[in-house]
Amino acid sequence: MIQVAALGSGSSGNSLLVRSDKTTLLIDCGFTMKETIARLHHLGLAPSDLDAILISHEHGDHMKGVGPMSRKFGLPVWCTHGTYHRARDNRFSSVRLFHAHEPFIIGDMEVDPFPTPHDAAEPCQFVFSVNDVRFANVTDLGACTPHVREKLAGIHGLVVECNYDNEMLRKGPYPPSLQARIRSDYGHLGNDQAGELLQELDHPELQFILLGHLSEQNNSDALALATMQAHVEDRHERISVLAQHCCSQWFDVVCSVAAEALEPA
Ligand SMILES: [Zn+2]
Ligand SMILES: [Zn+2]
Repeated sequence: MIQVAALGSGSSGNSLLVRSDKTTLLIDCGFTMKETIARLHHLGLAPSDLDAILISHEHGDHMKGVGPMSRKFGLPVWCTHGTYHRARDNRFSSVRLFHAHEPFIIGDMEVDPFPTPHDAAEPCQFVFSVNDVRFANVTDLGACTPHVREKLAGIHGLVVECNYDNEMLRKGPYPPSLQARIRSDYGHLGNDQAGELLQELDHPELQFILLGHLSEQNNSDALALATMQAHVEDRHERISVLAQHCCSQWFDVVCSVAAEALEPA
């Protein structure tokens, strides 16, 4: 089983917990150390429960608390060469550099990184596997490349970016240059793109779909959810929107659901 919870998700801060029986990883840390500790506590964890921090890319909404957390609690930080060298604060207690095409192991978890098209030095996202259970985080990408689709095939649980609603972005407060950056192939995924990706990926063993990295100016929970529900069936209420200002609940990804569902009655 893999358990997943978001400390928070959105354009002003992202951080996700992924844990197995033996390993607990913090994926990105876009909140201050104080806020991160408070949110961990809310989810029943302390910093000493973490085995490592993984960083997807160096943008502030993913990195704000990484340096302080690493130094204060002696946490190793895993990131690509590009992320490490471009990061404003990379004085980590220890660093483990990886290549975005090479899987690695932390504890009993396999981490399979994959490059994502985004306007950062060397951005990537991750598929996590424990035994046969696979969970992926896919945010901060302007387009779904064939490689991204390949990595996500058969996934059991997913955080997918729903950054903006097309109309809200067009009519919203952002200047045209910033709108163009967000819409570009190296920007962010909108609701429609995420919906199309999910329609293609969906299968009976996809147990939950968490909508993440919503823009507070250019999207709403209701619009993101409605767009997604138009593309995939929300059976067992498996689609949820992650919030910016509070933690999510824990979500369990297990491997037996499909087996039970497929068994003859
Ligand atoms: Zn971001
Ligand atoms: Zn970013």
